Amino acid sequence: MLTLQLSDPVEKIRGVGPRYLKYLHKLGITTVKDLLWHFPFRYEDFSRIKKIKDLQPGETASIIGTITKISLRRSWRKKMFIIEGKVEDDTGSINVIWFNQTYLIKNLPVGTTVSLSGKIKTKGKQLLLSSPVYEIISQQKLNKNFFSELRNTARLVPIYPETKGLSSRAIRYLVQYTLKHLRFPADPLPLSLIQKYHLLPLAIALRQIHFPDSLELAQKAKNRFIWSSLLLSQLYLLKIRTRLLSLKFPRIKLDIPLLKSWVQSLPFTLTPDQKQALWEIAQNLARQPMNRLLEGDVGSGKTIVAIGAALLTYKSNYQVAVMAPTEILAQQHFQKFKQYLQSFSVRLALLTSSGCKYYEEGLEGKISKKAFRKIISSPLPIVVIGTHALIQKDILFNKLGLVIVDEQHRFGVEQRKKLLLNNKQEIPHLLSLTATPIPRTLALVFYGDMDLSVLQTMPQGRKKVITKVVLPRDREKIYQFIRQEIRQGHQAFVICPRIETPEDKSNIKASDLLTYAQKLNYEVKAVKKEYQKLSQEIFPDLRIAMLHGKLKPAEKEEIMKKFKQGKIDILVSTSVVEVGIDVPNATIMMIEGAEHFGLAQLHQFRGRVGRSSFQSYCFLFTENTNSSSIRRLRSLVKYNDGFRLAEIDLSLRGPGEFLGTKQSGIPDLIMKSLLNKEMVQQVHQEAEELLHQSPDLKKWPTLATAFQEFIQSRG
Ligand code: ADP
Ligand code: MG
Repeated sequence: MLTLQLSDPVEKIRGVGPRYLKYLHKLGITTVKDLLWHFPFRYEDFSRIKKIKDLQPGETASIIGTITKISLRRSWRKKMFIIEGKVEDDTGSINVIWFNQTYLIKNLPVGTTVSLSGKIKTKGKQLLLSSPVYEIISQQKLNKNFFSELRNTARLVPIYPETKGLSSRAIRYLVQYTLKHLRFPADPLPLSLIQKYHLLPLAIALRQIHFPDSLELAQKAKNRFIWSSLLLSQLYLLKIRTRLLSLKFPRIKLDIPLLKSWVQSLPFTLTPDQKQALWEIAQNLARQPMNRLLEGDVGSGKTIVAIGAALLTYKSNYQVAVMAPTEILAQQHFQKFKQYLQSFSVRLALLTSSGCKYYEEGLEGKISKKAFRKIISSPLPIVVIGTHALIQKDILFNKLGLVIVDEQHRFGVEQRKKLLLNNKQEIPHLLSLTATPIPRTLALVFYGDMDLSVLQTMPQGRKKVITKVVLPRDREKIYQFIRQEIRQGHQAFVICPRIETPEDKSNIKASDLLTYAQKLNYEVKAVKKEYQKLSQEIFPDLRIAMLHGKLKPAEKEEIMKKFKQGKIDILVSTSVVEVGIDVPNATIMMIEGAEHFGLAQLHQFRGRVGRSSFQSYCFLFTENTNSSSIRRLRSLVKYNDGFRLAEIDLSLRGPGEFLGTKQSGIPDLIMKSLLNKEMVQQVHQEAEELLHQSPDLKKWPTLATAFQEFIQSRG
């Protein structure tokens, strides 16, 4: 008998000809392994096998019997073919009906033994089996125990992701054939782990995930696969980490007197968390290549920590690159770096798509891009702040020591890699700032190769932002309130609902450009409309401005500047102000169509206010009075902790949406694992333990092989 191996091409399976092959390829299936790892997403429960006399109306059941009658008639009224049959077992008979499947007349002649699964209905006083799934039981099979051979009926039947031309029925056939003829490989999971965690061994898991004996076993099988793919990805992250630690890196002097005098120079005292983070970073920079995530809620003061890290690096004669997600933020960072490094003679440059700026000891001016390139290609230290203009090919740093990425989830992983690869001899340190609170499970799964510093406490004197969900009937009242606040000298943000847009223009394919442009148009329209409404009808007496993606960078900068200076009362904006904008005098955040945003993002908006000792307010306007939507928004009223909200967001929307479409290279199984915290912890620990026992995994050859394959599959 022909045996199959996982690595065989799928066309080696009997029945796979050129046509099926095309469809299989469409599903991404090229090898036997791909086919077996094409898991069902659910099961049809046809496992209730009954004698005909015991059938009950309304139930879904399976019967085994013989066709005693079958005929075709045409219904003129409904313009379709009706196939009527009768099936009999040793307890009775039942009528069966199908629609339009005329081939059944040929396939199921009188005398055929069949297994039928479907819904029992009534017609008049009689029971009727309507459109059942059928499976012929050959004479040959009848003599054996045929139940285990059934794949479409009388069991839990797998439903697969399909493609036109390749139905679940066809996939079942291929999978069943393959399982029967496969030479099962040795299990890549070490036996000790299988036993310790009661995991199903590979061969059993493969059978049970496709043709489960019970839903419980199907789940166990799935768990096993989640477990093993999670293990591989954890091993991978841990390996990257060890590899990184072995690379040459810029040694940054742990200059404590410098740090001390800088901290003293600041207009405020650092919070204990900021000090701790800075200390962790300073030590890291001196001792090992850094790959660190600085996580802290909006307003927790990450920038200042980053500035400290930049100063240390600069004073060790290295260059620093700071990447901001938007132009506005790059400008703001430039100002902040200037301000907080004032008395430390640090050269700074700003690079955005609208041009370059250079700063040195009180001198500031525009420079050409050519001049800019020249500056950074010399080994002199400098801190360069920019948008993703910073990672163009022609931007080559001579002596890059540290890369700081603000809100890195907006930058693709690829872009980060590029920045790292541009540098030849030493790997620059990486510090990634994020206000997206990453639940611990998520951090382990996606950033397992990184160290973590967390700012949990807020700078002193901040008041909790009062948050309210505002239904249409309360709109007027809230407008009144906003007016009062502004009369007292405060300012307000108004955010218009976002129309889903790709987060980062550089990642858009040409084919998406049109739709991107259209979406941008919608956004701009929404902002303009809101602007008109507020400036003409609601607050004609106030100074209102708008901010959106179609303005030129210089215009945006001008508006932001005015808003910061208090020359604008209300800023109507798209979600571009989402991250980082710092205007302490703003005390109102009003969000239109709040239901369109994720909780984590709403929390980010809210973080734009409450940055001073004034009481601030966040109003979540929603027209959607559907109770689950309101309940979701209310969790913002209840919780002020970004981590907590992120957990809720994750559980409500699932990992896919939570992470955004950009992360969609992640294997489905690993995504699913995110919902199982305990498992992620377990696997993480076990991966560490395995590498500890055998850094090259040689102790478990099958695991080592699976790991090699995993790495190759990631390219
Ligand atoms: P985020 O973590 O959201 O990036 P920022 O770094 O923008 O926060 O800091 C928010 C505001 O808090 C800024 O105006 C910053 O100057 C101020 N700030 C930072 N640290 C402190 C502190 N220890 N005490 C008081 N204010 C601080
Ligand atoms: Mg920030």
